[in-house]
Amino acid sequence: MKKITLIGTGYVGLVTGACLAEMGHRVTCLDIDTEKVDSLKAGKLPFFEPGLEELVIRNTEAQRLFFTDKYSEAIPGCEVCFLALPTPSGEDGSCDISYILMAAAQLAESMDNEIVVVNKSTVPVGTGEKVRTAIKQGLTTRGVEIPFEIVSNPEFLREGSAVTDCMKPDRILLGVDSQKGEAVMKDLYTPFAIDNDPILIMDIASSELAKYASNAMLATRISFMNSLARLCEEVGANIKNVRTAMGTDPRIGPSYLSPGIGFGGSCLPKDVKALVATAEEVGLSLPILDSAIQINQTQQILFFEKILDHFGDLSGKTLAIWGLAFKPDTDDLREAPSLYLIERLLKKGATLKLYDPVAMPKAKVLLNQYEQVHFCQDEYEAAAGANAIILATEWHQFQFADFAQIGVSMKEKILFDGRNQHQKSEMEKLGFDYFCIGIQSKAAPYAHS
Ligand code: NAD
Repeated sequence: MKKITLIGTGYVGLVTGACLAEMGHRVTCLDIDTEKVDSLKAGKLPFFEPGLEELVIRNTEAQRLFFTDKYSEAIPGCEVCFLALPTPSGEDGSCDISYILMAAAQLAESMDNEIVVVNKSTVPVGTGEKVRTAIKQGLTTRGVEIPFEIVSNPEFLREGSAVTDCMKPDRILLGVDSQKGEAVMKDLYTPFAIDNDPILIMDIASSELAKYASNAMLATRISFMNSLARLCEEVGANIKNVRTAMGTDPRIGPSYLSPGIGFGGSCLPKDVKALVATAEEVGLSLPILDSAIQINQTQQILFFEKILDHFGDLSGKTLAIWGLAFKPDTDDLREAPSLYLIERLLKKGATLKLYDPVAMPKAKVLLNQYEQVHFCQDEYEAAAGANAIILATEWHQFQFADFAQIGVSMKEKILFDGRNQHQKSEMEKLGFDYFCIGIQSKAAPYAHS
């Protein structure tokens, strides 16, 4: 059993903390957001994540998981301290590591024994060294010498399946530069690596870069498919068929080949920009990533234009938006493509009826001030009386919506499927005008006549 502290109790910190507590460790989750800490102490989670609530409640009751907003409570006696802090984009797109460095300085103020400092945030190459310097400076200011190790341990969990990803990771990446750091981390992670052996050990710089490289690859795959989808629409091919053919090639695989209205969330957009900025700092360019970003931005614009082109004028039109979260199984709205759409549709005078299975409370906080926005109880209420449905997040329940019933309640039977969740032929059989991504909705030059 180790005494562990998580600095930062967001998606990564809370999930990691709860999973480490589940493995029998004594874990303290520290956050400067007092409201968040108070609600966690009361058993209320700050966000939706399948399976997390049970884990948090069980481990809190078992006195293995604690919450605090005070460094002086969380740090003394701690043996392993994870940094799970925000690393947002700076104005120029580079990664802002100020939260990390501030936390490192605060950590140094309360440290009283040897500690392994583990960076779980996504950070540019060289951040490990900057954290080391910040802690050393803090200790020097106090006039004390306490040994500590720095480890890079980028996080690969996915919101929506974060608990499973953490309990059964496909890989655990450790960037180390000391035997002590390596040994402590291997010991900590071995129970998570029983089924296979996913622990990868490397130098700190490679570990830091590998996380960005992975996210940049995923973003590039999505943007590649989105640009192919545009071509499909022009030439009369079907992107779903193209994807199937590509994805069955074992050298390619099927993941992250789905076109849509662009990637969002708290990671891909900012991480791609940060990697570009890292390259620029050393005089290199990564044009493939510039394109991935640019394609992603235009993908959202193109979808909006599809809607606008269809109606010509949106004032007086009522549109149902199905799904607000940036992807299913989360209530995370950070950089969600739905928000971009909502903003543009409102500017054009549309009235919007919104529904998301779990993100409604967060959506209300963001969008409550708009008179033209109505919040609905379910997808049926959202669609009733609407001129069209815009499907922005492919929640499982939308797959099985009763479109025959829904169609009767709508003003016009139109579906703009931003995630290709439905079948054009099925929707057309039900009398819907169906628009999606990468499947032609007009005569194409190579169509068989
Ligand atoms: P988050 O915004 O959900 O949580 C960060 C928390 O840190 C917040 O609760 C904030 O109040 C707290 N905080 C800020 N400054 C602090 C300080 N000085 N001391 C203590 N707490 C402080 O962020 P997240 O989504 O958990 O992401 C954290 C890091 O992990 C980021 O670098 C992100 O890129 C990376 N990451 C996130 C995911 C994901 O799916 N969310 C996946 C992999 C990696």
